[in-house]
Amino acid sequence: MRLQWVFSSLAKQHGCTVTPDVSDGQLDREERKLASRLDELAKLHLTGIPSHVFVRFSFKQSRVLALKLFGGDVESEEEEEMASSEESDLEWEGEDEESTEEDKHWAAALAFYKSGNMSERADKRKRGTRSLTEMSKMYRFIRGEKEMRLLREYASSGIAPKSRTTRLKELSEAFRDVVFDMMDHGLPLHDTDLRTLAIRENQKQNLVKNFKASSWWVHHWKRRYGVSSRKVTKFVTRKHKVDKTKQKEIEDKFVQEIKAYMAANPSSVVLNYDQTGVQKELRSQRTLARKGEKKVEVLASSSSALTHSHTLMPGIDHTGGINKTLFVQTAEPSGKFPTKMPPVPDNIYLTCGTSHIMGYKTMEEFFAHVAFKDLPQECLLLLDSWGCFRKHSEITKHFPPGHSIEIKNIPAGATSRIQPLDMAFNRQLKVVIRRIHDHAIIAHADTFSVAKRENSMKIFSQIHWAFCHSRFIPNRVFAFYKCGYIDICPPRSPSYTEVLFGEGTKGFCSSYACRAAGFVMCVYCEKPYCFLCYFQNMHRCC
Ligand SMILES: [Zn+2]
Ligand SMILES: [Zn+2]
Repeated sequence: MRLQWVFSSLAKQHGCTVTPDVSDGQLDREERKLASRLDELAKLHLTGIPSHVFVRFSFKQSRVLALKLFGGDVESEEEEEMASSEESDLEWEGEDEESTEEDKHWAAALAFYKSGNMSERADKRKRGTRSLTEMSKMYRFIRGEKEMRLLREYASSGIAPKSRTTRLKELSEAFRDVVFDMMDHGLPLHDTDLRTLAIRENQKQNLVKNFKASSWWVHHWKRRYGVSSRKVTKFVTRKHKVDKTKQKEIEDKFVQEIKAYMAANPSSVVLNYDQTGVQKELRSQRTLARKGEKKVEVLASSSSALTHSHTLMPGIDHTGGINKTLFVQTAEPSGKFPTKMPPVPDNIYLTCGTSHIMGYKTMEEFFAHVAFKDLPQECLLLLDSWGCFRKHSEITKHFPPGHSIEIKNIPAGATSRIQPLDMAFNRQLKVVIRRIHDHAIIAHADTFSVAKRENSMKIFSQIHWAFCHSRFIPNRVFAFYKCGYIDICPPRSPSYTEVLFGEGTKGFCSSYACRAAGFVMCVYCEKPYCFLCYFQNMHRCC
């Protein structure tokens, strides 16, 4: 064997010029085999599968393996068969058609088996059937007595035999249920446990002969079902765990209740309102700093700006709608606004109390002036279990006449999972605000203080105006889908941050004679604007 030639031809295949200049065609059969074996090993190495796993495979197996990993057709069926006939726990992503296809083969073989006409055969019991030689000539998968026995069993029982692959697949699925159940019960699991459990499960179900639950099998099983080693984030007691299961039941029951309502009232709109606190200066908890630095200190305009907040009350509905007016409560030391104050942007309803926390008084204001503006004829109000929201009589008295409205309170403690605003709106809103506040501190600390009431309102107003754009309808529908109220997932659309601060901000500000860099994209005119033109001067194009 000319080893030098083998390597040269390999190098040439990968685009290197070397001497001697040897092409694949010049190698003899053995050399070509070695070259492709080396090539596949190299490719397999790139997949990150530990080398001791794949060196155990024969040439044929690794070839089929490489083809499956990197695409391409297996040259002959024979090769495929040979690779899979060597019994191992190796299992591939089985298509669902696979088993029915297999059933068909067996059914055809059985029909042929029964079609024999050998009345002269000595053994009377075997008359009317075909011999192994005949069978294997016709059906290649019948290789010996073992398959003939399976065929006879099939003839008498009527149940088609299953291949090892099918059995392994069944085992994988049964095992998944076992493991997921253990995870749900908060039991600690490791690879070694998986092996023991898989073997035990196999014995219990009596599925696969000689099943060893090799590390290869475990590796693939974990990959298929998305299981990986994770750091434990919390240890909980058994009682807490049980409570969690109960909580889940309550949540599921509530979601089903709402879904039943939606099915019974197809023209009704499910509307979700919730309050969310936004710090006057909402700052990112991360920043770039020199490596190894112990203290990372970041400027803030005042310490009270970081602890004091505004309360916002956004509202979204399951058809992707959004309340065009944003309710904001801010704190004033006297509980009243000063007599002289700059005008409030038109899409903001601003009120104040001695603190930013909403009480009965401001809740009434909210329902009287904001909540039921442009309300659909029929709707279901989805509110959390906050004390004020539970007093339905206080809310119903503000219902606009001629509307049919129902109120449902989301069970306490369940909002993070089944409140649409918590699921995919409030957090996204804060990410956007944080981005703006961070930028203001860097670039406009002396001219634009974000903690100032007037500036806060400008920012809220501009963001809310952008959020109301119809391109974000799928984002809001998604919030309801993720909570389980809707069964159909809306098409994936870019997030608020991706749209506002993404590609569209490239270049200079589009305002006349402004040469500042673009910071945000206006979703309506789709042009970049600088921070001051968009927020301080409140860019509006429609
Ligand atoms: Zn615009
Ligand atoms: Zn500008």
